[in-house]
Amino acid sequence: MKLENYEVHLPNYSIGDRIYDKIGPVCESYGKKVLVIGGRKALDAAYEKICSYVEKTDLQIIGKEIYGENCTYATVEHLRSLPLYQEADMVFGVGGGKALDTVKCLCITDDKPVFAFPTIASNCSACTSVSIMYNEDGTFLKPHFFIRPVMHSFIDTEIIAKAPAQYMWAGIGDTYAKYYEAVISSRGERLEHFTALGAAVSRMCRDPLLEYGPKALEDHRNGRCTYDVEQAVLAIIVTTGIASIFLTKDYTPDYNSGLAHAVFYALTAYPVIEERHLHGEVVGFGVLLALLVDGQEEEFEKIYRLNRTLGLPVSLEEIEITEKQWEECRKRIPDMSDVAHYPYRVTEEMLTEAMDRLKERVRKDAGKEE
Ligand SMILES: [Zn+2]
Repeated sequence: MKLENYEVHLPNYSIGDRIYDKIGPVCESYGKKVLVIGGRKALDAAYEKICSYVEKTDLQIIGKEIYGENCTYATVEHLRSLPLYQEADMVFGVGGGKALDTVKCLCITDDKPVFAFPTIASNCSACTSVSIMYNEDGTFLKPHFFIRPVMHSFIDTEIIAKAPAQYMWAGIGDTYAKYYEAVISSRGERLEHFTALGAAVSRMCRDPLLEYGPKALEDHRNGRCTYDVEQAVLAIIVTTGIASIFLTKDYTPDYNSGLAHAVFYALTAYPVIEERHLHGEVVGFGVLLALLVDGQEEEFEKIYRLNRTLGLPVSLEEIEITEKQWEECRKRIPDMSDVAHYPYRVTEEMLTEAMDRLKERVRKDAGKEE
């Protein structure tokens, strides 16, 4: 076997409702001048709290910028050209995935210290070493990988609990998908240490959500920052970030995706998906099909019940896709890159059978309710 020389940078993070008091001890060694860059709503939600804690430190906030509209290279260039950015010793990125991905692409590329302040729990951007880049027209461009994640993430669960709960709702679907996709994609292979770690860690993308997910979402909907909310936030932001770093270490996202994501990307051919539904919502639906295709009856039942409890979709109607559109998708899914690294070839017949069985399961439920 060949020897490999590689480095891995893991995410550092603080979590809780008073963890902004760690800003001083964590950030002061990187300099003094801070530029805060974030989404508009995110800054509304977090800026004052950040300022009140920064006042107690040796740091100085020199400006506040709205990051832009989307994570594009043009947005990154615009921020890079700002005099305040050039003057800043470090950047605080505040927001959801797109704002954080933008400041990561800007600062990690420039080797400027950057810290993340996630304000919603929809994805793991605060803890990964990748930014999802978009084209100017809003369509997906490519993942941009970096050597490391941000210096530190300050995950304030009080701010997150007060944000709209649908981000966590969808984030749950994308998070448990990570476990099933990693395990199926890597099945039967002799894995490198880092991939094996990623697959092992990914189990924690599922277990806490099965246990705490329903209560976490209920508490979140009531704006309450509870133990359950914290457990769900940890799974969505931290565990998924760590799993993603190990599973994509070679910058080949082979183990980081699978049939659930293939279903989502195939369905994005219909504008209703991007316009009216969230990524994790549709991926969580795709997991049901992936589990049926894979013959994992027990796991299917767990996730089916979880989706029903949370209100995540279990049918095409819920994501506003017609039978005809699904038939078109079914033809494209076997050739999608997300299932290129699968332990078997996914066929149209498998998808047809899985969908029939899913419908049967939904009918069984409806029968009970009558
Ligand atoms: Zn995803």
